[in-house]
Amino acid sequence: MRLVLFDIDGTLLREGIAPKLAFARALRETYDTAAPVSGFRFAGMTDPQCVMEIMRMAGLPDEVILRGRDECLTRYVEHLAAEMREHDGAKLFPGVRDLLERLNERPDALVGLLTGNTRGGASLKLRRWSLEPYFRFGAFGDDHEDRPTLAKIALQRAQELLGRPMGGDAATVVGDTPRDVACARAIGARAVVVATGQVPREELLAAGPDALLDSFADREAALGAILP
Ligand SMILES: [Mg+2]
Repeated sequence: MRLVLFDIDGTLLREGIAPKLAFARALRETYDTAAPVSGFRFAGMTDPQCVMEIMRMAGLPDEVILRGRDECLTRYVEHLAAEMREHDGAKLFPGVRDLLERLNERPDALVGLLTGNTRGGASLKLRRWSLEPYFRFGAFGDDHEDRPTLAKIALQRAQELLGRPMGGDAATVVGDTPRDVACARAIGARAVVVATGQVPREELLAAGPDALLDSFADREAALGAILP
């Protein structure tokens, strides 16, 4: 049995401007200060980590940021729903649905999420493309702010679902940034990266993934990389 743990943004889909606008609104309302969101690189970071980093850049002390963080993330998801209705620019990457379909047919694969999105944010993004049913379990940004810890939580949830212990070497983490590779390594998992996100190929290669794909358009190549 192989666990296949998917990142969302840059890996399965792209959301356009909506999440940034929603984040900026939530930060402003929660912390009452201008949030330097526009130049911020969200790629590979968990949502609670983004709140922390952006508000540190705005000069707020950690204890103030932490006190408002849950409230801020709740507001973010509310605003995200509204911003997604108002803005286009979202895209499902080539081959994603077909790949998820095929993986779900495999009796030797269990497909889950390993994402920095909060549960609510992930659900909104996946629902737009009716992708939710492909994922049996997941670890989310509201479980922990640290991505490598999320990998451990995902592994633990897979074990609970299967009712037996499982090593990280039975997992493949699929993402689009060096942070996804690092979190795969944290549990001894295979790391597959896809260059559909914002990170250039050379930077992805430098992170030392087990496989690098240009996209999931070549289904057999993708399946071969994910299920070695
Ligand atoms: Mg990503």
